[in-house]
Order: sequence, then structure tokens, then C-alpha cells
Amino acid sequence: MTTAVINPVTTEQIAEVGSASLEETDAAIDRAQEAFPGWRDVAPGERARMLRAFAAVIDEHIEELARLEVANAGHTIGNARWEAGNVRDCLNYYSAAPERLFGRQIPVPGGVDITFHEPLGVVGIIVPWNFPMPIAGWGFAPALAAGNTVVLKPAEITPLTAIRIGELALEAGLPEGVLTVVPGKGSVVGQRFVTHPSVRKVCFTGSTEVGKQIMAGCAEQVKRVTLELGGKSANIVFADADVAAAAASAPYAVFDNAGQDCCARSRILVERSAYDEFVSGLEQSVRALKVIDPGQDDSEMGPMVSAAQRDSVQRYIDGADVAFTGSRPDGDGFWLPPTVVESRSTSEAVWREEVFGPVVAVMPFDSEEEAISLANDTEYGLSGSIFTNDLGRALRVARGVESGNLSVNSHSAVRYWTPFGGYKQSGLGRELGPDAPNAFTEEKNVFIAH
Ligand code: NAP
Ligand code: MG
Repeated sequence: MTTAVINPVTTEQIAEVGSASLEETDAAIDRAQEAFPGWRDVAPGERARMLRAFAAVIDEHIEELARLEVANAGHTIGNARWEAGNVRDCLNYYSAAPERLFGRQIPVPGGVDITFHEPLGVVGIIVPWNFPMPIAGWGFAPALAAGNTVVLKPAEITPLTAIRIGELALEAGLPEGVLTVVPGKGSVVGQRFVTHPSVRKVCFTGSTEVGKQIMAGCAEQVKRVTLELGGKSANIVFADADVAAAAASAPYAVFDNAGQDCCARSRILVERSAYDEFVSGLEQSVRALKVIDPGQDDSEMGPMVSAAQRDSVQRYIDGADVAFTGSRPDGDGFWLPPTVVESRSTSEAVWREEVFGPVVAVMPFDSEEEAISLANDTEYGLSGSIFTNDLGRALRVARGVESGNLSVNSHSAVRYWTPFGGYKQSGLGRELGPDAPNAFTEEKNVFIAH
């Protein structure tokens, strides 16, 4: 069986990719299981060197990988270069981990007590279509560094960069079976990662709905699981902030990647006394946004990834009271214009649900307490921004918002140096940051009697 891969700008087929069957998935998992003892036992310094070699090969192919992502997912070329570079950077960052996978010596009576961080075995990584390269790298770089082997399922509609990265791993000298990309359906390949007993951990990024099924499935074998799910993050703008700067930057915090971003600040809360100034600044910056061919260097927003995603977002736009929109090019692609809605009620679908497209809802608030309570009035808790020049307020609000990743006077993207993950139904566990390799290990305690 094969899947047609479509370019979202031209809507034409650009590749046909094999879709793994259950038997092929089992065979890939078996090879990863066979490769595990060898990879686990590679000396730490040597594993570090191999990960750096892998990073170097990725670095030599940044432009090729970026162009593939522009063609497959409609990402802007600027973003796509950053995304490929992020895979290289994650590999370099976690290449330091094999030589620093420290245990502890714990004082106990009658002997010596030491702990070890041992790899789990085969790790299954399930990747969505919105950030095919970074999300793959956030999983496989620390997993490989900790001595695990990896099977990775890209989203069915965006497999091209993952397949190429799998080839580059071999070219860089990683042994066969250490990192295997298995393109195919979620219901076949992804589901098999959950049920196959040799897969000892599943890292899933995608919808909250599927994430819950993965978690329930993993419970069957008490399988380790990390979930990175949806978001409905708030961008909170106080009147004491640089309101013009907040309005100029707000579009990039929600329309980046055409809004197909779990961290999108898709709700903007503005203190009432600054509301009119903010909305008029926002209108200017949204109208100026360059929604053009994503292959052009100055493109700021491309099309939606697929016709299905465009239609799903269009339904939210049709059901909302649109204040203003930016532009979109003519032509066949899966384009939508960046769209701003002034929400009157927190019960509106566009205010409550993860739209996952270029639609933002704006609402005024009257007090700091109300801003925090509106921001927290969601089942999600992934990201968010706070604009204020009052340091005390910045800290109070940052501590008050129930969310894993907040930025003050900026919309910082995910940084590989720092932990990333969600509160509430935005996820379970953390990725990235200095502790990520530990999440791919079991901690073993050994007591030695005197
Ligand atoms: P999804 O169904 O959650 O897909 C994410 C990944 O999981 C894909 O690789 C998918 O494979 C796989 N998958 C699907 N069903 C599975 C199953 N039963 N067992 C194991 N793996 C499975 O997301 P979607 O349908 O592409 O998008 C729907 C909505 O999810 C979006 O509109 C958005 O709201 C949200 N979403 C969130 C994120 C995020 O970063 N948090 C990312 C993507 C989507 P296939 O490619 O074969 O379906
Ligand atoms: Mg789905």
C-alpha cells in the first residue's frame, strides 16, 4: 500500500510513499530490538561521537531538508531552515549526554548504594504533520543518547523529511536498526508501537483525542508514555506594556506555521484601557503579514497542510464574527487568510477549541485576576505570553497561569535547552532540556553489602 504525498501550494502529488503493513512494522520493531544491545553497549564517548557525526551530516543537508518541507508541508523556507537546524542542534546538545548519564551514590548503613540510568530498549515515536522535523528530533536525539533504539512514525501526509533523516543517519554511520523510520497509518504503525511488547516507551505528539487512546493503550503493558497534545494558549497584554510592540508581534505568535502550532497564542486578552490601541495595531500588522509562496525567502505564512485541515479551520471561520483578515494569494493551494475574531463570549467555539489554523480570538479584561482566570478557563495548558513592564505583575501572572511554557514580553518558541510540555490536557511528561535523556531510562538501584 502507498500514500500520495501532496504539495499544499500546488495541490499536486509530489511523491508516493509506501505505507507499512502490520508485518512490516513488526519486522522494523524486531530489527530495532536486535540492534538494541549493541547500541546500548557502545562506549559513551563513541556514542557521543556518532551523534555528533549524525548532526554534521544533517548540517550538510539543511537546504535539501528545508526545501523538502516547503514542498511537503508548505512551511515557509525560513522556518524550514530553522527546523532542520533544530534537529542538528538537538543532536549536538544531547551528544553530551552519553558521557554525563550520571547515577548517584547514596549514603546507607551496611554498604554502598549506587544508582544507574539504564536505557529502556526500543522507543516508539509518533510524529504529527505540523512540525515533522523538530518533533522527531526532540524524541530521537535524547532517546538515542540514552542508549535506546528508535522506531519513528511520521504523519502519513508529511513523511518526506523523516525518511530522508533516516537515510542520513545511516550515511553518518549509525548502525542499521538504531533509528528506523516507518511511514504508514496511525491506526496500523502507530497503534502497533502501543501494542508491541518490545516497544518500551511511546512518545506521542498530536491531538488530545488520539493521545488519550495512546495512554489507555499503553496502560495495558504499563508502557512508559510521553504526550504532547493540544493547546489554546493566551497572549495577555496589560495596558502598562509597550502596547504597540505587543500588537506588532502578536500575529507571529499565532499565525506562524499558518497557526498549525500547539503553542499558538490563539486567544489574546487585552486590558480594556489598551484594547482599542491594541486592536488597531493588530489590524495593521495582520494586514502587512506576507502570506505568499512559502518557498520565497520573505514569506511569513504559507498554506494549510492539507485540504482537510483547511476545511476544518474554515468551519470555525464560518461560525465566527470576523473583525478583519489579512491577505491570501489566489490560486489552488490550501490557503486561508490570517483571521481575527473579536469574541464576545467565552462559550464561542473559536474561543474554546484548538482551531489549529490562522484564526485568533481577542477579548478585553478589566483586572489582573480576571486575566489569569480567563487564561486558565480551558482544559489545555501548554504555552502563553505576558506583556507588561511591571516585573512583579509579570511574575505573579506567570505563576498564576496553569501552563508549562510562558514567555514575558516575547513569544519565545520552544528552546531545546529548556523543558517543554503541558499542564492539564495539553500533555504528560516533559521533553527537551537537560533532563530529557533521563526520561528515556529506568533508574536502577544497587546496594552492595560491606
Ligand atoms: P492525530 O490524529 O492526533 O495524529 C498525530 C499522529 O498520530 C500522526 O502520526 C497519526 O498518524 C498518529 N495516529 C493517529 N491515530 C493513531 C492511533 N490510533 N494510534 C497511534 N497513532 C495514531 O492528529 P491529526 O488527525 O493529524 O490532526 C487533528 C487535530 O489534532 C488537528 O487539527 C490539531 O487540532 C491537533 N494536532 C495537534 C498537534 C500538536 O502538536 N499538539 C499536532 C497535530 C495535530 P496518521 O498521520 O496516519 O493519522
Ligand atoms: Mg487524526
